[in-house]
Amino acid sequence: MGFPFKNSAFILDQLISHGFEAYVVGGAVRDYLLGRPIHDIDVATSAHPADVVSLFKRTIPIGIEHGTVAVLSHGSTYEVTTFRSETGYDDFRHPNHVAFVPSLEQDLMRRDFTINALAMDRAGIIIDLFGGQSDIKKQRIRTVGKAEERISEDPLRMMRGMRFASELCFTLGQTECEAFHQKAELLKNISVERINQEMTRLLAGKGVANALILLFKTGCIHKLPMLEHAGPVTNANTPRYWILQSDEERWTAFLISVGIDDVHAFAKAWKWSKNVRQSVLRLTALLKQRSKNEWTREAVYFAGTNDAKAADRVLAALGTLHENDLASCERQVEFLWNACPIHSRSELTVTGNQFMSWSEFKPGPWLAEVIQDLERDIVNGRIENKLEVIRSWFKKWQITQKKQS
Ligand code: ATP
Ligand code: MG
Repeated sequence: MGFPFKNSAFILDQLISHGFEAYVVGGAVRDYLLGRPIHDIDVATSAHPADVVSLFKRTIPIGIEHGTVAVLSHGSTYEVTTFRSETGYDDFRHPNHVAFVPSLEQDLMRRDFTINALAMDRAGIIIDLFGGQSDIKKQRIRTVGKAEERISEDPLRMMRGMRFASELCFTLGQTECEAFHQKAELLKNISVERINQEMTRLLAGKGVANALILLFKTGCIHKLPMLEHAGPVTNANTPRYWILQSDEERWTAFLISVGIDDVHAFAKAWKWSKNVRQSVLRLTALLKQRSKNEWTREAVYFAGTNDAKAADRVLAALGTLHENDLASCERQVEFLWNACPIHSRSELTVTGNQFMSWSEFKPGPWLAEVIQDLERDIVNGRIENKLEVIRSWFKKWQITQKKQS
């Protein structure tokens, strides 16, 4: 078969020529066998970190205490990790003890799933001690060793297992399923950042529908922050995630489908970044507006075309809009956008300062209101975006405001 990871061959060659063992391990071997794109290449070696550092020109000690050194070459980074075992996980996060071990076998034993415990030597020969290749053929996720024990060591493995089930469209072994069910509670010990990472990837996988059913059937979903009462998740009420194009769209559809209304609280509990939080909030607000109405010029102007199209995709994923109608909805959004006389506030011929100089009011919240009212009137073609026109429009605006107050 030969060695397929040509770019990283120099790492194995250098280590081997100095008397060490070296293999490509983990995800790269799995993805190679599956014919999937290879993201990063991890090398496992008998060399200790200090040896690795001395054998390569450019290295970064990214996790020396765990035995990992990054080797840099031609703009790529390769993680080289000393064979190691892990024991004791009192805090469910970090092994109490990481020990360097002399053999590849011991290193492979600590890995989570059989499909991730494969290694390849420099000749391209696969070392498969736990039936990983057969599980790849059967499209099955099984733990290395006893499922219950491996999950108790590190409960994040449950989320990883279901994430792989989603990304690879694999099923979960029966014993694993039962063990997840029994150990679901332990997910409460895992940091929300790591849960969020796995869940975000799970939602993006091709097999998301089945993975979500697994998440529900094993009870794991109910141990995740704010999802205590989520569901039920069935094939029938799972959004058509394949229509969606971003994590934010997928999260929006997910939250609606499991009955979460308070996006603010959810974003806080899941420690979302400001960007994700704001996107999901914007999309959720747009959906409420859109499900009652057709797009208008004004709505598209204030939403922007990207969000408007994203909202339609979420509606289609939720079945409110027919998937076949999406293309014409997109054209409609484009058409309305192109029909807008302005496309952003910065195109107004007046500024806030100008309004203040014309006004008898003190500066205050009215300024934001007047600008929004002006944008609305210009976008709807009620007035022109010309200074003198706006000035007389503003006079009338002030009079109406006075009447109202
Ligand atoms: P991907 O990069 O697509 O997420 P991967 O298999 O490379 O897949 P990584 O998280 O990069 O996953 O981890 C690399 C390898 O380290 C895995 O293939 C697995 O062998 C091992 N590993 C990672 N996380 C764990 C864990 N929580 N428990 C046991 N082994 C793990
Ligand atoms: Mg990886």
